[in-house]
Amino acid sequence: MRFSGFRILKEGLTGNRGWSSHWRDPDPKPNYDVIIIGGGGHGLATAYYLATEQGVKNIAVLEKGYIGGGNVGRNTTIVRANYALPGNSEFYSHSLRLWEGLEEELNYNVMHSQRGIINLFHSDGQRDYAARRGNQMIAQGDDAILLDRDGVREILPYLDFDNARFPIYGGLYHKRGGTARHDAVAWGFARGADRAGVDIIQNCEVTGIDVEGGRVTGVQTTRGAIGAGRVGMVAAGRSGQVAAMAGLKLPIESHILQAFVTEGLKPVIDHVVTFGMGHFYISQSDKGGLVFGGDLDFYSSYAARGNLPMMEHVMEAGMALMPMIGQARLLRSWGGIMDMTPDGSPIIDRTEIDGLYIDCGWCYGGFKAVPGSGNCFARLLATDKPHPAAARFRLDRFRTGVGLMDEEGTGAQHNLH
Ligand SMILES: Cc1cc2nc3c(=O)[nH]c(=O)nc-3n(C[C@H](O)[C@H](O)[C@H](O)COP(=O)(O)OP(=O)(O)OC[C@H]3O[C@@H](n4cnc5c(N)ncnc54)[C@H](O)[C@@H]3O)c2cc1C
Repeated sequence: MRFSGFRILKEGLTGNRGWSSHWRDPDPKPNYDVIIIGGGGHGLATAYYLATEQGVKNIAVLEKGYIGGGNVGRNTTIVRANYALPGNSEFYSHSLRLWEGLEEELNYNVMHSQRGIINLFHSDGQRDYAARRGNQMIAQGDDAILLDRDGVREILPYLDFDNARFPIYGGLYHKRGGTARHDAVAWGFARGADRAGVDIIQNCEVTGIDVEGGRVTGVQTTRGAIGAGRVGMVAAGRSGQVAAMAGLKLPIESHILQAFVTEGLKPVIDHVVTFGMGHFYISQSDKGGLVFGGDLDFYSSYAARGNLPMMEHVMEAGMALMPMIGQARLLRSWGGIMDMTPDGSPIIDRTEIDGLYIDCGWCYGGFKAVPGSGNCFARLLATDKPHPAAARFRLDRFRTGVGLMDEEGTGAQHNLH
């Protein structure tokens, strides 16, 4: 099923009866060349690029719930390439370039909106860091503009510039940053993978990973045993539990991240804004809701819901940045399970078991990574060689200490991410 203006017109005039399912609902086969554990954004994108770019044909994605039910459908949808560290910088740049062609590639409206993102700073030290980060982004081939206070005021007049504790000094403006519709990205990749022959098997939980003589041979699932030549683990917040099925202990802690949305309002916020001191970020959805979030709930948990103290903290940060937000009514809040690495950067690598690969550790920034991660992980799974854009995302950096990447410049400490 493909979309076109003509098709939409025709279906609109004939009661929308001609649409069919976006993907099949196949039973699992006894064997696959590659099995992907986890049907989130990263798992589906991996399957898509494996089938379309790497020419692998016999692939299954095993998802314990339904497509779009994990973090891919729970995030605040920010897409950007404004990372400073070597390793992250080239990877997110690669991912953003894939985003920019994604709707044509998938023939699917993922509502990618490059409305611009502005990271505010509130001290001279933060300004220096923003300038360094902007230079790094430009050196990488991406865009960055350092705005002074008046420059920010021109674009975001509704902010409180003179908050006694955190006055606004300026902002780093990344025009190609923005948002996309999260679950549409999952659906678009699922449909594209299905069309390329991938079996997407929902309600199929992996309960064990079979290893013989140091090599993976398949998986145990709630729908029976399935053999596989290679297995990719892409289970986001559940990565630690899935890897444990193969006897692996990951350098990952799972934490909760909450998000919030208000009632629908008339257009008021036409950028993504992040508050450098309060760890608060906000944008407005196409339906009008103000979508925002803040810090992690600082304890490990597999519960996809958060607690009131963090909710209060996020609201306070929002009020400090834009007091007008206090007039909006909160409609919903929810949580997702984040796979946090000690250095805040992801892992895309082989494991010590032959044929078993891992893609995880996306912390709270993995939505923007979806096309890049799928593209790079597919290359690794198909060729056993890392994609150059993801070459530093090694699993053994936590054992050897070589190549540790520290997104925040704060040291390897979980609670500072
Ligand atoms: C509130 C919130 C806000 C966020 N905001 C942003 C943002 O603005 N920008 C950004 O870039 N990132 C953001 N993120 C992070 C981003 O959503 C995640 O990093 C990313 O979605 C994780 O990858 P995924 O899509 O593959 O995960 P998921 O969608 O969680 O996919 C993993 C899948 O694995 C499945 N699974 C687990 N165990 C098994 C098993 N045993 N067998 C079979 N299947 C299994 C799960 O059911 C799940 O569907 C946010 C996250 C949250 C929670």
